[in-house]
Amino acid sequence: MDSDYKGSSIRVVIFSYNPVHQVIICQACQSCIVPGARSQERHLRAPPHRLVGEALHATLQQLRGYKLRTVEELKQSKPQLGDSCPALPHLASYQGLRCLQAQCGFKTRQATAIQKHVVTAYQIKAASHCTRQPLWQACQLQTYFTSKGRIDYFEVTGPAAASDGQDSGSSNGSRPLATTTVTATATATATAAQQALFASIEQDTRTIQQDIDREAAIIQDLNASRTKRVPWLEKTGFPAYLAGL
Ligand SMILES: [Zn+2]
Ligand SMILES: [Zn+2]
Repeated sequence: MDSDYKGSSIRVVIFSYNPVHQVIICQACQSCIVPGARSQERHLRAPPHRLVGEALHATLQQLRGYKLRTVEELKQSKPQLGDSCPALPHLASYQGLRCLQAQCGFKTRQATAIQKHVVTAYQIKAASHCTRQPLWQACQLQTYFTSKGRIDYFEVTGPAAASDGQDSGSSNGSRPLATTTVTATATATATAAQQALFASIEQDTRTIQQDIDREAAIIQDLNASRTKRVPWLEKTGFPAYLAGL
């Protein structure tokens, strides 16, 4: 992880290494970073990260330290039909459909694609799909890479990732992948630890404010104008001392 402070924007690339699949997942993009120094550099230079200079080099250096499968190896080792693969954390997850014909591994996110599949592969009318005799069923899908030409879905189990929001049920067949995560990165750069810290600071601030309000109410008759006093109390921190008086 690396950070680069430029004005008010903090640039941090948060990634997680998955030792089972031997991939690095970029949390902002919710996609694996294509292995190889050049691909990694391209990823970090591109939006939403736009890393340059020291930040870029330090991050690349860190990525170099992980044992990664090549794209080819990932193709070979990806979860197969019947494997019960837990969903990879931080990787985008999608609602999909899987063909139920024996030994068929066909999966898609498009209803029209599965209908076409059963007709062309088995000469079964898609209209005969019903709850009593389903031809396909819903499943959860992930793909290591989300860039064009590299999408290769595999089925996973477990909690669905948050990424599957509004885009998931899209009937728009031309853009199957959600891009919402990319646009959200600018604000989603704090680490979990930072977020926890911010949350606790916020909580403290709220508690302090409540105390101030309470104390301000107690001593209200000292001064007729409370509105004038509250900012002063906040600044001096006097309410704590006044409480016992
Ligand atoms: Zn990324
Ligand atoms: Zn099939």
